[in-house]
Amino acid sequence: MSERLRQLPPIHQLQQSDEFALFLKAHSVSFEKGSEILKESVAHIRDGVLNGTWEGPFPDEAGFLESIYKQASLIHQRKYSLSLQRIINASGTILHTNLGRARMGHEVLQHVVMAAGSYTNLEYNLEKGSRGSRHEHAERFICEITGAEAAMVVNNNAAAVFLILSALAKDKEVIVSRSELVEIGGSFRVSSIMEESGAKLVEVGTTNKTHLHDYHDSITEETSMIMKVHQSNFFIKGFTSSVGTDMLSRLANDHERIIYYEDLGSGALYDFSRHGIGKEPLVKNVMDKGADLVSFSGDKLLGGPQAGIIAGKRELIDRLKKHQLARVLRVDKMTLAALEMTMIHYLKGEVEKIPSIYGIIRTLDEIKCQSQSFIGELKQADVSYQLELSEGVSQVGGGTMPDVELPTFMVTIKHPHLTEHELHEKLRLHEPAVMSRIHENRLILDLRAVTNEEQEELLKVLCEIDLESKHQR
Ligand SMILES: *Cc1c(COP(=O)(O)O)cnc(C)c1O
Repeated sequence: MSERLRQLPPIHQLQQSDEFALFLKAHSVSFEKGSEILKESVAHIRDGVLNGTWEGPFPDEAGFLESIYKQASLIHQRKYSLSLQRIINASGTILHTNLGRARMGHEVLQHVVMAAGSYTNLEYNLEKGSRGSRHEHAERFICEITGAEAAMVVNNNAAAVFLILSALAKDKEVIVSRSELVEIGGSFRVSSIMEESGAKLVEVGTTNKTHLHDYHDSITEETSMIMKVHQSNFFIKGFTSSVGTDMLSRLANDHERIIYYEDLGSGALYDFSRHGIGKEPLVKNVMDKGADLVSFSGDKLLGGPQAGIIAGKRELIDRLKKHQLARVLRVDKMTLAALEMTMIHYLKGEVEKIPSIYGIIRTLDEIKCQSQSFIGELKQADVSYQLELSEGVSQVGGGTMPDVELPTFMVTIKHPHLTEHELHEKLRLHEPAVMSRIHENRLILDLRAVTNEEQEELLKVLCEIDLESKHQR
């Protein structure tokens, strides 16, 4: 083995070769960077030969030089390829948590690009010519839409909950119903975040039933807050009972020092129930019923960027803005830009420009038409797929509206030489990647969250996979 390794060409010799010059040119890297990669490549091969994992030609065999550059290209690719990749979401889940929840529309993106690439009045008051506050940008719109006196924006809703508890309930008692001690996305637990914040959790009621007197009887001198948490990602059926916003806010109001706070989770600004979809409370209604504070995510049902929005009484919001954590949890200008443009869409009543909302409220007819034209185009492309259209359901996702099933049309797609799992994998590993869904041993494409441009790409991807499978046979 060591004899074979002695045949490894020294780096300085490789650096002088024409192959190396070609490598530098092909990958447009400098001599120094290229040399680093070259050394890594040779070291990788040396280690592989020593521990028996190297599968390429040995240093004394034909084709060895080529394999050095092949390996170097792989290293180069790994080093400089971006990690975030685009995905065409044909899974039928609109706010897919693993796929980054909400995507944003064209006008929002334009505004984000402006904010990212320019200087802005992020913390400058142009009228007065003096220092301004970044809190002002989205606040006006949030207040207008929710009816709140004041608002602020933090990094996400988990941060909002943490800030509110830390700033307003540290070392004090917070009353929460046992049925609302939820865990969201495997990393956010109401009980843990409360402990972390220094607030003392007082659990009341049972898993299925909590009554007003349960809250009432738990109020002590130490109580600073009654908190209601939206049961975002689950629902309980059967004999259940919970206390509504109006009653809880009245109970809190009877005690001057007690704040009534609702963690709304997804926080709908648009009334989906007018399309017969879900029973999600509107943020505005919760404010109207007397909540002192609410918080919700920017990228769930709202359809904007990742953010946590806090709205409520001015006096409380002012205290939150002055807290040290506000700086720790603050958002950047791109988030604020995305959020304010999304809010403008709400204010103008053009919610169909918000892709997640559009995805949720699209009609069955529209999806049927889209799926039929997709099937038609694919059939014309002379490919070996078998296609079938059938009714099914899509999901809202993102831990929101778990009991809502959106009727949809699904395209079942079969390939004569690929199992559903093989096709699923090929779609996933393609560029752009495609998320499909396996349902009852069939591969399903749900075009609900697929745009027209993406649909054209999806057709191309399917043609390429078909061609590949022909070559491989
Ligand atoms: C989703 C959710 C959170 C966490 O919000 P993020 O924006 O994901 O941080 C907190 N509370 C509830 C009730 C939720 O549904």
